[in-house]
Amino acid sequence: MAALSSEDRRIKWVDQVHSNTTLRIGPSDECGQPADAMVSKDSLALTIFVADCAPIALGTQSATMGALHCGWKGLRDGIIRSAHQTIRDIDHSQIFALIGPCIGPCCYEFSYDDLADIALKLRCDPEEIAAFTQSGSLALDLRKAIEVELASLDIELSFEDKRCTSCVAGEFFSYRARGEAERMALIVEKL
Ligand SMILES: [Zn+2]
Repeated sequence: MAALSSEDRRIKWVDQVHSNTTLRIGPSDECGQPADAMVSKDSLALTIFVADCAPIALGTQSATMGALHCGWKGLRDGIIRSAHQTIRDIDHSQIFALIGPCIGPCCYEFSYDDLADIALKLRCDPEEIAAFTQSGSLALDLRKAIEVELASLDIELSFEDKRCTSCVAGEFFSYRARGEAERMALIVEKL
């Protein structure tokens, strides 16, 4: 990471808009296009910014890599499916995933209707992705919902950081809990 600077042409980022758009990125592609996932086989540093949404890194046995910004809207609308398909267009080897810190169910109150809508799109039971907040309200377990989607696509989960960005003040930025404007970055690159 120390070798990267903001002037580095290998750094690629997109204008994240909570969509289900994945871009296949090459060295000459411009940054700032509207999308929420990038896939590449080139020696680039795919960079995603988050505060409460989940940062997801994907990698394959054949060294294709992906970086995703995944909140509930993107998840519901198929951002993981879209990134998976973009990888499958160029690479049929096993895909592995890492999930970074995101908001936990402890802090993510949700209505039953919204939960049911997400469950319908993920083809799972609402109870599988439901939980309760610290104060006992119905909540979305975003991490669990992502796990359900990864499993349905046969993507192997290699690592997940289960800390809640909203609970752990001082360590993570949280838009929802503290209205912070700063973001954390996930950088996926080949070594
Ligand atoms: Zn929390």
